Amino acid sequence: MNEAKATAKLANQVALVTGASSGIGAGVAAALAKAGAAVAVNYHSNADSAHALVDDIRKSGGRAISVKADVGQPDDIARMFSAVHDQLGDVDIVVANSGIQKDAPSIDMTLEDWHKVIETNLTGQFLTVQAAVRAFVARQRKQQFADGHPPHSKALGKVICMSSVHDVIPWAGHVNYAATKGGINMMMRTLAQEFAPQRIRINAIAPGAIRTPINKEGWESPEALEKMMKLIPYKRIGEAEDIGNAAVFLASDDSDYIVGTTLYVDGGMTLYPGFENNG
Ligand code: NAD
Repeated sequence: MNEAKATAKLANQVALVTGASSGIGAGVAAALAKAGAAVAVNYHSNADSAHALVDDIRKSGGRAISVKADVGQPDDIARMFSAVHDQLGDVDIVVANSGIQKDAPSIDMTLEDWHKVIETNLTGQFLTVQAAVRAFVARQRKQQFADGHPPHSKALGKVICMSSVHDVIPWAGHVNYAATKGGINMMMRTLAQEFAPQRIRINAIAPGAIRTPINKEGWESPEALEKMMKLIPYKRIGEAEDIGNAAVFLASDDSDYIVGTTLYVDGGMTLYPGFENNG
């Protein structure tokens, strides 16, 4: 290991990112690896993209594995955490990022689409965080760190839930999605309160409009992009790297006193941009 790697912010740490074969998850996995963490890239269906990201990380001198799991399925979650433990070691950082949209006017929304989005975005994140906390606590029981945390981190473990600006901005035609993101806020804060005494830090990132496959129709044409800019005071679309940088901060000791907070990374989307020109 070279000197730069040894002094990297997340050196000697193991991270798991769910839904990391595309978009924000891929950007977060790459950023955590660049900061020195060994990274498990979870994927649901796109094995090729996950393997390509793992190859990229390895080519840059990092450690990475890919692991398939559906975050809505408890057995998959258990298998995923065992694979990470067996192949990379004790997990320090977990990013519950997986999420889907199944949009429809609320009057037409099927119960199936309601349930599917809740299962992946809310239940999936809960199961991921629950498994993360179990892994952190098991590690402390086994290794008995004198100060309650391993030498390479001031916390026993760090969790980041991927929320959205739609945890506070209502979104007509996306009621299932907005309900999950609002739910993540209270789930994250409750879990943060519950596990902070064990030196486990749980926080969330709320991205604004980030250029990924989930919102392609919002940025793929110049007209759509222009319309989007009306919602963004900072007048640019976000990139996965913007979220990756925030994730490195929330996973590192730089944020050691930040517990139960949602960090908005949104170019000002939550600042009521309709009032930019006097309303
Ligand atoms: P994306 O579609 O590229 O990523 C979503 C990922 O979740 C995919 O890799 C997908 O395979 C994975 N996934 C879906 N169902 C899964 C399951 N059952 N088990 C495991 N993985 C599953 O879109 P993205 O924009 O990168 O979204 C990532 C997260 O960021 C989501 O939680 C999304 O709600 C949130 N977000 C995105 C934006 C944005 O503008 N792109 C804004 C706010 C929040």
